[in-house]
Amino acid sequence: MNLHEYQGKSILTKFGVPIQNGYAADTVDEALEKYDQLAKETGSPFAVVKAQIHAGGRGKGGGVKLAKNREEAKQHISNILGMQLKTPQTPGGMEGPGKQVNKILVAEDAYAPDFDANKEYYVSILMDRERKQNVIIHSTQGGMDIEAVAEETPHLVHKTYIDPELGMQGFNAREVAFNLGLEGTAFKNMTKFISKLYQAYLGADATLIEINPCLHTGDDRIVAVDCKFSLDDNALYRHKDLAEMRDTTEEDPTEVEAQSHGLNFVNLDGNVGCMVNGAGLAMATMDIIKLSGGEPANFLDVGGTADAARVEQAFRIILRDDRVEAILINIFGGIVRCDRVAQGVVDAYKNIGDIKVPIIVRLQGTNADIAKELIDNSGLNVRSAISLQDAAEEVKAVLA
Ligand code: GDP
Ligand code: MN
Repeated sequence: MNLHEYQGKSILTKFGVPIQNGYAADTVDEALEKYDQLAKETGSPFAVVKAQIHAGGRGKGGGVKLAKNREEAKQHISNILGMQLKTPQTPGGMEGPGKQVNKILVAEDAYAPDFDANKEYYVSILMDRERKQNVIIHSTQGGMDIEAVAEETPHLVHKTYIDPELGMQGFNAREVAFNLGLEGTAFKNMTKFISKLYQAYLGADATLIEINPCLHTGDDRIVAVDCKFSLDDNALYRHKDLAEMRDTTEEDPTEVEAQSHGLNFVNLDGNVGCMVNGAGLAMATMDIIKLSGGEPANFLDVGGTADAARVEQAFRIILRDDRVEAILINIFGGIVRCDRVAQGVVDAYKNIGDIKVPIIVRLQGTNADIAKELIDNSGLNVRSAISLQDAAEEVKAVLA
């Protein structure tokens, strides 16, 4: 689950990571109130106005603006709130439709008083799955374009791996500060920053924290100016407060709906919809679809209890995608009996009515034979298969 910048920063603050202070708002009036409050606190009329959407590169799309006074702040706020913000990371990129901005962050100008005295670094923490270790990626070349830095000057991107047995050690943090070329107060502040950032990463069960830019100010403070924060969905049950930060308006509406029905669903671009029980089997089914010349239109795990109601819900969600030319249902009957699922498929089919795409059902396991008979005798446009090979052949046949 992804968070907004302002939400990520609120977690950082809890763990003592210095941030660019600010307040989030939903309306122009509220944002202006926050601006006044901030101006009072900082004693400066300067403030940055930042669109809150789940995508980076906002600066490039005009979603981050510096205001030098209240009038400018009002202008930027009115322009940004409600706009369709296009960034290289919104769907379709700068040519796409962009994302509507519903929330705005009014923040102190972290670069004041002397913009040029600041240095922008890059710092992120994530899991390196190959090494099975958390890694702190860091570079002196922070700011807007870390992807280009990694491509053109990879030697300027450093990685510090954390031993999972030892945890974060002082020397790990010092290595980061050293690689960034720091000395004196800035060196000390960076080691503190890194240690606390790592505590935040562990404490929130994050899958990613990315600070770009991580600011080294003229007076040697280290400050998180931007914050991309992603949480591990599977750990949300132990972070009720963080789970509440979910912003479903930023997510795929079909995926949100599927979740509310207990379906594990991910939208993809292909032409063969699939409905499977179990994530592993779902992955294998996507491979089968590819091998038979199709492309999976989705990943859908209906879970262990593939009852008629769930099957129907899954059908409805898959059928909403008009690129779907066939549906492959692949169920392994272990605890769930195949004949029950088959009956569920037949019932759902009749309930929905008017299903135009061919459906291939592969049921294997308990009562698979009875299930096949049920489907074959249903008179519906459903083909049954027992072996995976047969299912693949059927997919091939309907796509041909
Ligand atoms: P992103 O474009 O979505 O990554 O948003 P960022 O929060 O990283 O901001 C983009 C850019 O805006 C930064 O790289 C800075 O150059 C600039 N910026 C952000 N905050 C401030 C600020 O407080 N003062 C000034 N002068 N510039 C800022
Ligand atoms: Mn950024």
